[in-house]
Amino acid sequence: MQTVANDRRHKAFSNVSHVKQYPTEDEVIQFYHSKEWRRIRQSVLERDHGIDQWELTERGRLIPGDTVHHIVEIREHWELRNDIDNLETISKGNHNREHIEKGNKNLNKSRHKIDNFKVKNSVKSRDVQDEIF
Ligand SMILES: [Zn+2]
Repeated sequence: MQTVANDRRHKAFSNVSHVKQYPTEDEVIQFYHSKEWRRIRQSVLERDHGIDQWELTERGRLIPGDTVHHIVEIREHWELRNDIDNLETISKGNHNREHIEKGNKNLNKSRHKIDNFKVKNSVKSRDVQDEIF
């Protein structure tokens, strides 16, 4: 299982297009609100048996995960947003750290935008909170 998760990471990077596709923030928000995303998210959780794939590959430990993370950032490679090989189950704690360690400059900006979006449209979506960055 550890090898499977590792192979997937390599595959995700090999699927990257040479031409970068940058989505707008609105497109990103719409994507995380879509039915399509909810469906893909669910199939990733099922495929990974709800196990944190980062913890498994990096530490060889089995812990539960309930967040679905894009291995290659969709803000830099929009074409990989629906690529199941670019998705993995991760726990909230590891997810936050993963993004902070990558130095994701969009993090605070996205959270701010999502807060505004939620206030404006009264949207309450756990999926969106889980995986907006
Ligand atoms: Zn993520």
